[in-house]
Amino acid sequence: MKDDHRSIVRRGRLPESASRPVVTPIWPSVVYSSRDADELSAQYDKRIDGYTYAREGHPNATVLAEKIDWLEGTQGGNVTGSGMAAVAAVFVGLLERGDHIVAGNQLYGRSLRLLTHDLPRLGFSTSLADPTDAAAIAAAIRPETRMVLVEVVSNPTLRFADMDAIARLARQNGLMLVVDNTFTTPRAYRPFDHGADLVVHSITKMLAGHSDVTLGYVAARKAELNAALHEAVVTWGFTPSPFDCWLAERGLNTFELRFERAQENARLLAERLASLRGVEAVIYPGREDHPDHARAKKLLDGNYANMVSFRLHGGRAQVNAFTRGAANIPFAPTLGDIGTTISHPATSSHRGLSAEERARLGITEGFIRLSVGVEDIELLTRELEAAIDASLSV
Ligand SMILES: *Cc1c(COP(=O)(O)O)cnc(C)c1O
Repeated sequence: MKDDHRSIVRRGRLPESASRPVVTPIWPSVVYSSRDADELSAQYDKRIDGYTYAREGHPNATVLAEKIDWLEGTQGGNVTGSGMAAVAAVFVGLLERGDHIVAGNQLYGRSLRLLTHDLPRLGFSTSLADPTDAAAIAAAIRPETRMVLVEVVSNPTLRFADMDAIARLARQNGLMLVVDNTFTTPRAYRPFDHGADLVVHSITKMLAGHSDVTLGYVAARKAELNAALHEAVVTWGFTPSPFDCWLAERGLNTFELRFERAQENARLLAERLASLRGVEAVIYPGREDHPDHARAKKLLDGNYANMVSFRLHGGRAQVNAFTRGAANIPFAPTLGDIGTTISHPATSSHRGLSAEERARLGITEGFIRLSVGVEDIELLTRELEAAIDASLSV
């Protein structure tokens, strides 16, 4: 009996099956055992393939990375434990102390913090510039500049970077061009087809699409840069969890369907919102009154994605009435969920700025950003119209 009890810690053989699972299994194993020292050594030398320790790589990360590689038109990308881990891996994996980075001045908030607070502390120097104006990016380039980091679309004002001119500048100056493609997704824009050297994603958003995993992805066009990124991910511990990778892979299966539907909903909603009395302005790149409409049209080939921003008439009281009036639509600071979410930049993503700084970006108190989901458009329109009506009655 005592011996039986002890043997329970001995893992048995995996069940044999001539047939194979249809779905990718989850491999939570932290370690992989080898038959003998020769086999392990051959694996470390990369003479044979195999996993050794989960921080160094595991099958669920490989499966997910290969799917996103395929969407982005590359090979050898790395999945990371968050979008920010992917952004961080680019700097710590590819740059040296003293290198200078030029970055867009309206990046994701945490990326801005990394650039303005943490990287300078570690001996990198950084400059921010307006990516809608390639001349501003050019003016920020110095002899020690090594890298340019931009997002195609700014949050929440949905301004478009001058991607073609920035790619030309990067090429002419021998700089690595890094594109955070989270907002655009490879369905609307494939950075490697337009001169990017590296692509970053927060998989957390539209790619996984269900607000139940936090993951990132980073890939380089050149194999040696991918290898350096892999080393950074493994050394700094940016590794993702197998279960999260599995969930994201499942989400990714419907990515294109979700994108198409959400994009179509966003287009219809932008039109509808523009006709409502409580709405001061609609900010949507597919509209001709958008300041970057022509550029967006050229870059995205008609795929304006799923983000719609608008300004409510009024201030905080009207915004409160709006979010309370849309009780079925989560008021939550994220994007890319299967369902529509509402965000209020003045109290979330842009709360660190002064009211004047926000005003300069066009982010008023009444500014609302929608990440449009795949709901029935009639239902969604009805709910938002009711919420806007509620904002009018305070
Ligand atoms: C969310 C986001 C990130 C950070 O991703 P996490 O998965 O939250 O770490 C980076 N860039 C953009 C554009 C994002 O929207």
